[in-house]
Amino acid sequence: MSQKIQAIRGMNDILPQQTPYWQKLEAILRQLMASYGYNEIRMPIVEKTSLFKRAVGEVTDIVEKEMYTFDDRNGDSLSLRPEGTASCVRAGIEHGLLYNQEQRLWYMGPMFRHERPQKGRYRQFHQLGVETFGIATPDVDAELILMTARLWKALGINDSVRLEINSLGSNEVRAEYRDALVAFLTPIKDQLDEDSQKRLQTNPLRILDSKNPQTQELVADAPKLVDYLDQESKEHFARLCQILDANGIEYQVNQNLVRGLDYYNRTVFEWITDKLGAQGTICAGGRYDGLTEQLGGHATTASGFAMGIERIVSLMEELAPIEISDADVYMVALGDAAEINAMQLAEILRDEMPSLRIRANFAGGNFKKQFKKADKSGAKVALVLGEQEVNDQTVGIKFLREHKEQLLVSQSEITQQLKQILEI
Ligand code: ATP
Ligand code: MG
Repeated sequence: MSQKIQAIRGMNDILPQQTPYWQKLEAILRQLMASYGYNEIRMPIVEKTSLFKRAVGEVTDIVEKEMYTFDDRNGDSLSLRPEGTASCVRAGIEHGLLYNQEQRLWYMGPMFRHERPQKGRYRQFHQLGVETFGIATPDVDAELILMTARLWKALGINDSVRLEINSLGSNEVRAEYRDALVAFLTPIKDQLDEDSQKRLQTNPLRILDSKNPQTQELVADAPKLVDYLDQESKEHFARLCQILDANGIEYQVNQNLVRGLDYYNRTVFEWITDKLGAQGTICAGGRYDGLTEQLGGHATTASGFAMGIERIVSLMEELAPIEISDADVYMVALGDAAEINAMQLAEILRDEMPSLRIRANFAGGNFKKQFKKADKSGAKVALVLGEQEVNDQTVGIKFLREHKEQLLVSQSEITQQLKQILEI
């Protein structure tokens, strides 16, 4: 036997036992996006490396150490996308979708980051991304939060997630605050964790969300961003809170909530769960008014979020399990004529009940073997055909999950009967 080839670490196969969760989530997401009037956009998985450097930021974890970057055959540096916002803005500028207009967009697909694989953290993972352009007011920030809150309810996981929000203020405010933070932390630099020491030069705001306990203690006494906020950002934030309150959305203001990417300003938010261990953020976003200009477009306000599909699927598996089966109906047939009749009948049922999942037994076997397969399929009923049934144009209905007498009905009535039995 030759050696087995295995998948790349951190890049997962999604197996038939899991796809029902993905399909359910994807179907609900499409419906949700439509119900808020958002349109789908699909971007390539590969972009020029310079796009991510410019959009995400040179000194972020993503660009410094997590990107899958390679030279293509022409010698251009390309990268597998680590996130979608950069590509979405690039596409929007390129196709004239952003200037002087409003857009509400969403996309879903794989992202790639070379991180240490662990539960909830993979090298190929999937995100739903939602981006709005040209709407400066906080109502759209609130709408993004409302739609996610609605999603948790639809998935049955709303009791296990909480919302944190914060305002990062204007870019000027952040620059001013950054200086104050650096001035406060520099004299005590030696007491910070190693990562935070590095970030003091490159991305000091990230020190605020360091997970290191000693750093957290030191940061507790640091100047607060909220004391630097400009009047307009304060009003923006107050209005956001007002809309959330009016809609009964609970939240916690976390003054240390900053996002890992460079491009955010004003509103930032995260949905967090305590049920997944360390990888608890399932959705994160905020406002990024400066990004379009930074990528060479006209200045356009923007706001959006990204959601980690794998983490949400994990939550669904734990909190809202789906009963998984291969079929609703299993066709059992004994003898040549019965086998042909069973396949015809199955086709008729598929014409009349397109949502019904029908599996047919092939390759023969006695009744006992066939019923064993029928049972394993998870089907609720087996439709049974033998020589007698073919001659009489009848079909047996055997209940596989309930103690009920087997029925014998005319083949012409089978659709009606099944609709009643399966409640469709
Ligand atoms: P984290 O703090 O978990 O590293 P992040 O700030 O890097 O998250 P974003 O870039 O904001 O994450 O991505 C949005 C969401 O995508 C995250 O909240 C998470 O649910 C999901 N996500 C990010 N990286 C991964 C990954 N490597 N594997 C699985 N899901 C991920
Ligand atoms: Mg990360």
